[in-house]
Parts: sequence; structure tokens; C-alpha cells
Amino acid sequence: MTPEVLAQLIGERSDMAALEARGGVWLAIGARAIDALAPRADRPRAGLVVPPDAAVEHAFDIHDAIDRLAGGAPIAAILLDARLLQDRPLAALRELTQLSGGAAIVLCGEPPTRAARKAARTFDVPVWDPHAAPRSALADAPRPPTRTPPPDRKRARRSDRKAKSSPNEAFLDGCLRRLTRPDALKQYVLDSLTGISGAERASLMLRDTGRATLLLQAVHGMRDDLVGKVRQSVGAGIAGRVAALGRPTVGRATPGGVRRYDGAAYVVLPLGRGRACQGVVNLTNLPGDRLPETDRVRMWETMCRRAGLALRHALRLRQAENLSTQDQLTQLPNRRAFERALAREIERARRDGTRLGVALLDVDHFKSLNDDLGHQAGDRALTAIARRMDEAFRETDLVCRWGGEEFAVLLPGLGADAAGEALGAIERARRAVATRPLDLGPDVPARRVTVSGGLAIFPDAAGESEALLRLADEALYAAKEGGRNRIQIA
Ligand code: GH3
Ligand code: MG
Ligand code: MG
Repeated sequence: MTPEVLAQLIGERSDMAALEARGGVWLAIGARAIDALAPRADRPRAGLVVPPDAAVEHAFDIHDAIDRLAGGAPIAAILLDARLLQDRPLAALRELTQLSGGAAIVLCGEPPTRAARKAARTFDVPVWDPHAAPRSALADAPRPPTRTPPPDRKRARRSDRKAKSSPNEAFLDGCLRRLTRPDALKQYVLDSLTGISGAERASLMLRDTGRATLLLQAVHGMRDDLVGKVRQSVGAGIAGRVAALGRPTVGRATPGGVRRYDGAAYVVLPLGRGRACQGVVNLTNLPGDRLPETDRVRMWETMCRRAGLALRHALRLRQAENLSTQDQLTQLPNRRAFERALAREIERARRDGTRLGVALLDVDHFKSLNDDLGHQAGDRALTAIARRMDEAFRETDLVCRWGGEEFAVLLPGLGADAAGEALGAIERARRAVATRPLDLGPDVPARRVTVSGGLAIFPDAAGESEALLRLADEALYAAKEGGRNRIQIA
């Protein structure tokens, strides 16, 4: 914003030097105000001209602005979208005035009601019309009275709201249908919002397990190899702030300013309110590069609140399911998961005419490790062994904690030389464990550990899961008898 424009805008009421000393940060509240302060190549004179070094902060509505002002950042001046003074204009302007620390406040556009006009006069807030030519808009001439709205406006608005609730209901249905499939749910939420907003690029980020960062989970019109990699701290950056406050924000990035929103109108919506916020949806490259109307953003916000709730439940369901099938110490699938997978893989092998390997592996002399180094070191050893084994097997093999210091492995899709293939894989795992001592934590000496294993092949050794497991266990016993640190085949 050039000093002349600023001075004209706020008339004689503020001291320019004092404004500049306060850092020159402008707060634009509401879509019209944000739009007016945004540099746009297609209409260089219509908006206010912001010099590159001036900072413009955006707030979506008055609540959002109050949050920011209460946060204490010094603000030089505030441009407020007049349409936001629809309800309780006096209280809104009073609160803004009190919190703004003496910043000049300018209304963007005509106040929408008589009460709003009166409030503007009470707090001595000048009105600037972004659609009028720059000079005449800034003149202090008395404003013509605003038109009274046509009588059927209210009814039109009501029926409009009613019409808008139906896509929202359909959306909620869509979310509920995907409660047991979190990945499908994430994509559905993002696709629905890009569809309804017309955004060309969009992404969905969710709080990670520690809840302190957002992790990119789904994209639209962007490189999908970034999914699971891009992170943003909660509270930092635009997305991070939206997640922390649980309030949407609309804005337009200064070209080259904010990396991920380059030169485009954006809307960032929280997935849930306040502390229940699960993450955000970023919508950018909106149609015509225009900022959306407040009503539309409100509707998207409602959708995202529902989506946030659905996502929270979907993730909890998934977590509960994991708890019942995952071993908490090693994070490997547990015996229950193994037995389910074994039944499924036997069926598949029968159908496809392939072979299947079942192996049981047991840590050698594990009791003495516990006795020598303590139970905690024993737990660390189990975790380290689990990791080495899991890495040694193929992606398609399933390594589980069978119980205690025993592991079970399922090797599906074996060919004609099933025994040779399976034995090769299990030998690789045995060597991976035995090859170097295990790191058991600070103050505990590293220790070399070995495992023994027994292997049975379906359908060669047996055609049922119980018999296969019994044969693998007998082979394991034979490996122990044979001197340990070896694999025996049934
Ligand atoms: P072998 O070579 O014959 O298998 O000897 P071993 O000492 O490993 O066999 P044994 O079955 O006598 O001992 C298994 C030990 O594993 C006993 C038990 O305390 C320990 N153990 C089982 N589960 C856990 C666990 O979760 N954490 C720790 N630290 N120890 C465990
Ligand atoms: Mg044992
Ligand atoms: Mg043992």
C-alpha cells in the first residue's frame, strides 16, 4: 500500500509515522478485503497497491481476526469486509477497536444494514468502496443511502440455504459409507471439495501420530509422490495455523511469496473445530482465480467439520483393529493376524495351485539373555530381532510374533522349488539376526543372538493349517536338538 493511498484512506485521523513505526502489518478481514489488498496482474489499479515489503495478514471472519489480534501481533491498519457486519455490528467494531491497539480501521464496501452504518459512525470508521474509482472512493463525501433490500430477499436466502443442505447430506452419507476405509475416505473428502469448489489443485493433510505436525495424505492435481512425505508443523504456515485455530482462512498468495500457493487464490479449511481439528484441506487455483463468497466458504467449512468427525472415527476404528491384530512390543502382526492370513493363503494356494511355506522361528537361549541383562534388555532384543527378520523377508511374506520369543512366517506364492525358495528366505533371516551383535540400549553390552527354525510346505507336508504348524514346530524342535542356529525342514 502506498503511503498516499493509506493516508487518503484513513484521512486525517492517523499519524502516518506512527503507523509505519508499528511495522506496517495490515490485517485484511473477509474475502472482499483480502481480495482488495491482493496484487492482481489483471487489474493493477482496482485493488489497493501493496508494496512488496508490506505484510498483509488474512483473517476469514471477525472471530478469526479477534484470535489473531488477541495473539498480540502489532497491526498498523485493518481493512474489514463490510459484509461481515451483518450481525451485531456495534459489538464487532467495539471488540476490534479495543484489540487493535489503535490501528486504523477501514470498512471495505458499504455497510450492509442501517445498524452497521451507525456502528461505523460511532467508531469513526471510514468506508472505502473497492469497486469505485480510486479517487472518488476516497473522498469523504456523504454516502448515498443504501438501498433497502427487496422484501423477498430473506425468503430467497432461506430457500438457498435449504437447497445447499442436500449436497451436504449426500456428502455425510458418502463419508459414513467409507468409515472402515480411511484411505478411501480421505480421497473422497478431497475429491468432493475439489468438485464443489472447482479448485484445480488441492491437498488434504492430517495430524500425525504425535499430533504436532500435519502430514500430506491425499492430493488432487499435484504430484502424488509427495503423499506421506510433506510435513507442516501445527501452528506454523497457513495450513499449520488453520489446524491450530480450527478456523478456515481465505487468501491470495503474493506471487513467489508462499511456496505451495504460488500466485493463486486459496482457501484452507479445518477438518473439525478447535481442538477436535484433525487436519486441513487446502484448495488452490480456484476458478477464475477468484476468492469465494463467504456463504460458499461456510458451506465447505461445514462439510469439512463433518469430514473431520468421520476421519476421527475412521482412524479410531482402524487403530482398534490394529490393536487386536498387532503385537505392541515389536509392532509386528500377532498370532491372531497370522492365523487369519494362513487360512486365507491356504485357500488361495489351493485355488491357484501354488505352494506356501510356514515357518516357526525361536530365539536360542533367550532365557539366559533375560537372566544376564534383565527383562528390559530382553524386550529390546526381541524388537531388534523382529526388525531384522522383517527386513530380510520379501514384501509379500508375512512375519508375525507368534508369542514369547517365537516368530511365525508365511511365505506365499512359492513355485516348483518351494522348499529351496523358502529355505533361502529363512536362511537369509537367520543370518540377518546372527551376523552382528544386537544393540540393547545404553549401559547394556551388545549381544550376539541366534535363532532356530522349522519349515513346512503346503501342500507337500500337509494340507491343513493345524497340521502345517505342528510339523513346523516339530522341525523347529529338531533344529534345537541339532545344535541351534539352524533351519530344519519338515
Ligand atoms: P531355547 O534355545 O531352547 O529356545 O532356550 P530359551 O531360553 O530361549 O527357551 P525358554 O523357552 O526356556 O525361554 C524363553 C524365555 O523367553 C523365557 C521368557 O522369560 C522369555 N520371554 C518370553 N517372552 C518375553 C518377552 O516378551 N520379553 C522378554 N524380555 N522375555 C520374554
Ligand atoms: Mg520358546
Ligand atoms: Mg527360545
